[in-house]
Amino acid sequence: MKKLFLLGIACTCLLTAGWSQKKYKTENVILITLDGMRWQEVFTGADPSIIRNKEFTEDSVSLKKKFWSADVNERRKLLLPFVWNTIATQGQLYGNRTKNNLVNVTNKMWFSYPGYNEILTGTADDVHIDSNDKNDNPNITFLEKVNQQPAYKNKVAAFTSWDCFPAIVNTKRSGVLVNAGIDTYQGSKLNDSQKLLNQLISELPYLGETRPDALTFHLGFEYLKQNNPSVLFMSFDETDHFAHEGKYDLYLQSAHYTDNFLNQLWTWVQSQPKYKDKTTLIITTDHGRGDTRPDAWRHHGQKEPNCDQIWMAVLGPDTSATGEQTQSQQHHQNQVAATAMKLLSIPFEAAGKPVSEAVGK
Ligand SMILES: [Zn+2]
Repeated sequence: MKKLFLLGIACTCLLTAGWSQKKYKTENVILITLDGMRWQEVFTGADPSIIRNKEFTEDSVSLKKKFWSADVNERRKLLLPFVWNTIATQGQLYGNRTKNNLVNVTNKMWFSYPGYNEILTGTADDVHIDSNDKNDNPNITFLEKVNQQPAYKNKVAAFTSWDCFPAIVNTKRSGVLVNAGIDTYQGSKLNDSQKLLNQLISELPYLGETRPDALTFHLGFEYLKQNNPSVLFMSFDETDHFAHEGKYDLYLQSAHYTDNFLNQLWTWVQSQPKYKDKTTLIITTDHGRGDTRPDAWRHHGQKEPNCDQIWMAVLGPDTSATGEQTQSQQHHQNQVAATAMKLLSIPFEAAGKPVSEAVGK
């Protein structure tokens, strides 16, 4: 009787464990960031007051031809067609504050390194990460954590426009491959595209600490095709760069090009047996930008109100196709890492918990 009773408890425990341990289809995660891309343009398209302002938009006639419609749903689709045709119908989008769906950063800095630290580690750290200086990150990113798993060793890579990422991912400690800034790609066997991309790195303008995003995308995309990583992080920078310069036309064009990168990436992913219906794409930004003065969109940081307001998107086999989230709700930047790790079924401790809508409740 006692034995049967114990057996009964064991079976109940196993069943409970089986039920609570959801089995995910996700085997690969691709994380994409667009530096300082505002939620305002993601959800409402080109801003009418900025697109008309001669100070920020030299040729508003041709820009309006590309990105303007009086209908906000049409307008955002003109700017980000992949986001609104594919993610909005097959995945989930968070952060439309006009519908009280909120995403905020939890760090108090509202600039890049603190934002990327929060995205990649799942916990804000205002004590150690309070500048954009290239100091090695004392915190462990989810990329490093994945790379520590025997099954994922050397299956993690990052391609970034900004040259600060070797410090943010702490490559010396983590051993994660990070190709950033003016780094050429050093592989054992380079194909013709990689040779050309390496050549272009030294022949195109270097924008301070960043390279043009097209180089980052194609280097990362070639790596994906050639090396089949399980976790790939691509970080683009031009949106932030052109916003600081006050060039709204180039800011919008960069957002539009990046949307096309996403389309190329997802089309390829869904054509490959290793990736098709086994890959989750997560897209977000490191910080918001201002919106309280005509030129506030150019700036961000502690002194600029509302720069903690951001957005996120998730597309993948475990995320229900509920599209744009319109319920009154609050999410945070620190949830990105835990969401990725939950979908990969790798244990992970962080301040931010997985986005429940994205991983299934
Ligand atoms: Zn910036």
